Amino acid sequence: MLAAVLHGPNDLRVEHVNDPIIGAGELLVKVEACAICGTDLRIVKGTKTRGVHYPSIIGHEFAGTVVDVGEGVTNFAPGDHVAVAPIIPCRNCAYCVNGQENVCLNRVAIGYEFNGGFAELVCIPAVVLDAGNIVKIDPGVPLEAAALAEPLSCCLNGQRKARVRLNSNVVIIGAGPIGLMHIMLARAAGAAQIIVSELLPNRRERALAAGADVVIDPGRENLLEIVKNCTNGLGADIVILAIGVPALVNDTLRLLRKGGHLNFFAGMPEGATSSIDANLIHYNELRLSGTSASTRQDFYEALNLIVTGKIAASSLISHRFPLREADQAFAVAFAGEGEKVVIYPSQSGR
Ligand SMILES: [Zn+2]
Ligand SMILES: [Zn+2]
Repeated sequence: MLAAVLHGPNDLRVEHVNDPIIGAGELLVKVEACAICGTDLRIVKGTKTRGVHYPSIIGHEFAGTVVDVGEGVTNFAPGDHVAVAPIIPCRNCAYCVNGQENVCLNRVAIGYEFNGGFAELVCIPAVVLDAGNIVKIDPGVPLEAAALAEPLSCCLNGQRKARVRLNSNVVIIGAGPIGLMHIMLARAAGAAQIIVSELLPNRRERALAAGADVVIDPGRENLLEIVKNCTNGLGADIVILAIGVPALVNDTLRLLRKGGHLNFFAGMPEGATSSIDANLIHYNELRLSGTSASTRQDFYEALNLIVTGKIAASSLISHRFPLREADQAFAVAFAGEGEKVVIYPSQSGR
């Protein structure tokens, strides 16, 4: 089969490799669509290494069609369309037991420890099936949309932590694919106003199309002034920091009303620090939260939002490539000007 194999940092090669051979309890899935995640970019660059090995096939945001089932598999059959929740919690550690399986101490993931979706075929190990990480979906649901359930599930986790709800005034910093998902989720949750800050003009346009009420260019406009104007001088209920820029943290705290909530959704560059005026938190009784990955329940709910059309996931895709053009796909994703970049391995020609 054709696969994009990562041989080391900055060494991704599209090449022919042996088809995976499945064993008992496993599934062989033909990958129809696999999206490039910001994390994949960090893995390719070599700045994220946890769980990564070489050579390996990365890609954890994908959906496909079952082509073969291993001995003992009874709940899936060839032809089934499936979405894949890539993170497999151990279900045993202190965090799993406490309902925080997204930060499981022993978690493994497809696209990291197990080969992922930038390939024509992927073997789904038995442990993944056992954990309920493979979800059958209606054949009428576009698989490219289902492939985006994983990033959407992380955003859903973030919005829960930040308690976005009916009538919330929400500020979202950054309108990349993750920022757009936050816009769509906040809209679906009944937010009163969604204010978005984004430097790139094409991303600002997409933010408006995704449902933002006010979209500003922080290079030219004063976000704090605009947020105050939109909220009777009070400030936002919730700010979601969807870009990993440490220098923004303090200014972001100033956007909040008393009792407001800042969610650190994006990861920051490793080792980066930001200096903050702690009195902003103290006197304004601000609440802060972080968000890392998602639970299986988050995934099921995110997928349901896509399947029912509540979230128009396909509209987040700005670029589509066959697998043999994976290099170009990654170049576009690295340039960071589009939104979701998706690779379609089954159209690559064998
Ligand atoms: Zn991802
Ligand atoms: Zn665990």
